[in-house]
Amino acid sequence: MARRSFVAGNWKMNKTPEEARALALDLRTRLNSYAKCDVAVCPTNLCITTVVEALRGSSIAVGAQNVFWEKSGAYTGEISAPMVVASGCQYAIIGHSERRQYFGETDATVNKRIKAALTARLKVIACVGETKEERLSNVTQQVVKRQVAAALDGLTAGDMALITIAYEPVWAIGTGLNATPQQAQEVHAFIRDLVRAKFGAAVADAVRIQYGGSVKADNAKDLLSQPDIDGALVGGASLAAKDFEAIVKAAK
Ligand code: PEP
Repeated sequence: MARRSFVAGNWKMNKTPEEARALALDLRTRLNSYAKCDVAVCPTNLCITTVVEALRGSSIAVGAQNVFWEKSGAYTGEISAPMVVASGCQYAIIGHSERRQYFGETDATVNKRIKAALTARLKVIACVGETKEERLSNVTQQVVKRQVAAALDGLTAGDMALITIAYEPVWAIGTGLNATPQQAQEVHAFIRDLVRAKFGAAVADAVRIQYGGSVKADNAKDLLSQPDIDGALVGGASLAAKDFEAIVKAAK
């Protein structure tokens, strides 16, 4: 089945509102008439409304980098899925490895955040991936299986229309060490099999699985031409409009 490619930029904790606006406008100029692939950018919460405004009416969607599972209340420092939707976002990244590594995110809290995002009708980019130690210990599949099972726990086949899975080996994020196309393809096919076992062939064939981890203009084509790699979640290279444009244009 032909799946439409999806490339998302995770701006992480970068860009002031003014810088975010400039980057969004630059991307808008470069990609606005580009219809071959779905594109989203995920600025900081502080910059969401600025970027939504800059991209209004364009083909580039906006996402948040996380959402909390309650709708409102005494949760200092958090924002909720309905707030993100009300600010003009269509997507939320959930379970990024930096959240797991530095902010105590667990498989269980990832699942709660995903469910809250789905309730608000946000599209979710659910991140999974093994650490370097786990890969070296040959437990990549076990780890990814546990993370995927937890992330999708309690979801229905209908919910899966709003889910993209991002396979991001932790050892490849921000390190310049990308997985080889073969290494990535192997895990992507494994993830698709997990989805097939849980939800059946139609859902597995339709779900998009992005690769993330040091995707750059010069390695994007090889990675994105693999049969089970349906796009990319891009960190560092999404901060320069020219680099991100090249990655989007490398998507099949
Ligand atoms: C990411 O943070 O999702 C990511 C893939 O980062 P980078 O592209 O910088 O490795």
